[in-house]
Amino acid sequence: MSVIDPSPSSAVAEGRTIRRRGLMLVLSSPSGAGKTTISRRLLASDPNLTMSVSVTTRPPRPGEVDGRDYRFISRAEYDRLLADHALLEHAEVFGNSYGTPRALVEQTLSDGGDMLFDIDWKGTQQLAQSARKDLVRVFILPPSAEELERRLYTRAQDSAEVIQRRMAKSADEMSHWAEYDYVILNQDVDESVAQVAAILQAERLRRERQEGLFEFVDMLRRGRPS
Ligand code: 5GP
Repeated sequence: MSVIDPSPSSAVAEGRTIRRRGLMLVLSSPSGAGKTTISRRLLASDPNLTMSVSVTTRPPRPGEVDGRDYRFISRAEYDRLLADHALLEHAEVFGNSYGTPRALVEQTLSDGGDMLFDIDWKGTQQLAQSARKDLVRVFILPPSAEELERRLYTRAQDSAEVIQRRMAKSADEMSHWAEYDYVILNQDVDESVAQVAAILQAERLRRERQEGLFEFVDMLRRGRPS
């Protein structure tokens, strides 16, 4: 067994446990860049990754499932969550409110699990202020303006007016690409999933995320006790 297995929350080496603190993987992109597909594929292939399901006051779109895509809540419930400091970050988008419930994230991270977030640049900035060390920010770009427009139109769930607003929001979202740690050009979804998985793998091995390494290396240097 390798000394440190990147996926589980801990590994036992020479009888010692090296625990890993979980990380927060944020995927942001203009809508229509393929982020949802990438997120679903990552979640399906990585048992140590949990999706952070946001709350929103927006009504569900056809096909959206409460508890999977979002927790769809009333304005009153949202205001209560805000007042109780139960949201790790929150933002207004198109007149609707969105937020990340705090409790699951904090529990998962301290158990060594990793969380995946599909949030916009405003939410990402807030997480950077409160949890910079745990945060890994990935921005996904569409391969071209034509492709972005095509993907937005073929969603066909929204009115022309909403599509126009989405295009404007896309341009705004993309202006924040340089605030992210990694940027992926989503030309091919298989390749993009593999690239995000590689980022995750490398970030899990960061020295600072692994607790107990000092003691472990110290023990290695002293030699095995007789
Ligand atoms: P949609 O209504 O199309 O599902 O999402 C609109 C935008 O809100 C997307 O850019 C999405 O990333 C963002 N969003 C979804 N959930 C959250 C959240 O909890 N916090 C923040 N800051 N943005 C969110």
